[in-house]
Amino acid sequence: AMFDNLSRSMEKAMRLIGKDGTLTAENMKEPLKEVRRALLEADVSLPVVRRFVKRVEERALGTKVIQGVTPDVQFVKVVSSELIELMGGGVGAKELEPGFPQIILMAGLQGVGKTTAAGKLALHLQRSKKSCLLVATDVYRPAAIDQLVKLGAAIDVPVFEMGTQVNPVEIAKRGVEEGRRLGVDAVIVDTAGRLQVDEDMMGELRAIKAAVRPSDTLLVVDAMTGQEAAGLVRAFNEAVDITGAILTKMDGDSRGGAALSVREVSGKPIKFVGVGERMEALEPFYPERMASRILGMGDMLTLYEKAEASIKEEDAQRTVERLMEEKFDFNDFLAQWKTMNNMGGMQMLKMMPGFNKITEKQLYEAEKQFAVYESMISAMDEEERTNPEVLIKSMSRRRRVAQDSGNSEAEVTKLMAAYTAMKSQVGGMSKLLKLQKAGTDPA
Ligand code: GDP
Repeated sequence: AMFDNLSRSMEKAMRLIGKDGTLTAENMKEPLKEVRRALLEADVSLPVVRRFVKRVEERALGTKVIQGVTPDVQFVKVVSSELIELMGGGVGAKELEPGFPQIILMAGLQGVGKTTAAGKLALHLQRSKKSCLLVATDVYRPAAIDQLVKLGAAIDVPVFEMGTQVNPVEIAKRGVEEGRRLGVDAVIVDTAGRLQVDEDMMGELRAIKAAVRPSDTLLVVDAMTGQEAAGLVRAFNEAVDITGAILTKMDGDSRGGAALSVREVSGKPIKFVGVGERMEALEPFYPERMASRILGMGDMLTLYEKAEASIKEEDAQRTVERLMEEKFDFNDFLAQWKTMNNMGGMQMLKMMPGFNKITEKQLYEAEKQFAVYESMISAMDEEERTNPEVLIKSMSRRRRVAQDSGNSEAEVTKLMAAYTAMKSQVGGMSKLLKLQKAGTDPA
C-alpha cells in the first residue's frame, strides 16, 4: 500500500539511531539518508525532499532532550512533526471559501478525476444542506458533458450545459447566472482538461476564472502523478492562482509523493482527497491523519506525548519546590510570579491549594494585578524588599511606596495581604508536597 516503504524506512532509521545517547549530526546521517531515499521512492520531488531532510536535521538538533524519550523515538517525532508541517500544519484546511453563492472552479489535466470530483463535491455540499448547480464547459468532449449530466442525475443535482457549440467562457458565465437565478448555495464549474499542461488550456481557464470570479479554484491532482506533481501544481498555481487541491485516487496503490508536494510548491492546502470511484468517496484532508498513515507509528508518538506531558508536570513541581526552599521575601514574591507567568503558569496555579478552579480570565486578571504589584515592589528600597516586616510595621514607608509607584495606599495594603497569603500558601504547599512524596494523595 501507499507509503509502506516510508514506514519501513522509519523502522530502519530508528534501529540505526538506537536507544542510547542523544541525536547528533553524526548518528542521524544514515537515518536521514534512509528517509531521503524513502521519500524519493515515494515519488516526492527532489527539491522538496532536500528541503524536508534539511528541516528534519535542524529541528532534531535543536530539540531539547526529554527524559525518558530515547533518541530513536525523538527522531520519529521530529519527522512526524515536519511531515504534518509539510502538508499544511496541525489543523485541517478550511474546507471551502465562503461565497454567495460559492463558486467553485475545477481545474486539472484530463483523466485525473476532475468530473468525478465535481460530482463528489456537489454531493458533499448537498449533505451539508447546501444546494448546488453543476456547470459543464468541456465542449471538446461530448462524452464529458454526458458524464456530468449522468452524475448530476445520480445525486439529484441539476446540471447546466449548452452543448458543444458555445464558447466555454460563455457557458461558465451563463451557468453562474443560472445558479444565481435558482438561488443555489454553490455553483461548481467543471472545465476541460488536456493530457498535458498547455497554453490553450491555461488561457481558457484564466478566461473562465475572470468571467465567473470563483470563491475557490481547486486543482484536481491524481495521486499517482508522482514526480511531475510538483511541476504541475506550480504551473496551475502560477496560471490561475489556485485556492487548494483535491487529491484523487488515494485508494489506489500510488506511491503518494504528490500528497507531500502540493503545499510545499504552491503554499496552498490539499482540501479534499478522493478515495474511490463512488460519489461518496471524498474526504476532507487532515495533515495529522495523513502523517500518521504515512509513518504508521502512532504508538511511538503517543509514547512521546506522554513523556512530554510528564516532564512538564515535573518542571512545575520543581518550581514549587524551589518556591518552598527559598526564604520568602518580596524578591521571591516577584520572581515566583514571573516564573508562573512564563512557564506552566496555569499548571503551577492549579497545584496551589485554593487555586484549582482557576479560569483563563481569572489568570488574565491575576497577571494584570501582578503588574501593579511589580510597580510597587520596584519602588521599595532593598531593606523593604528583603525584609517585608519593616513595611508591615511602618505606615510612612507604605505611604512612600504608594506615592513613588503612583498607586494608592489601599493598593499597597492589598500587596501586603497578597504577600502574606502567598507566604502561607507556600507553607500549605510544602505540606502538600511532603504528602505527595510520601505517596499519599491528600485529596
Ligand atoms: P476527468 O477527465 O479528470 O474528468 O476524470 P474523470 O472524472 O472522468 O475520472 C477518470 C477515471 O478515474 C474514472 O474512471 C473515475 O471513476 C476514476 N476516479 C476518479 N476519482 C477516483 C478516485 O478517487 N479513486 C479511484 N479509484 N478512481 C477514481
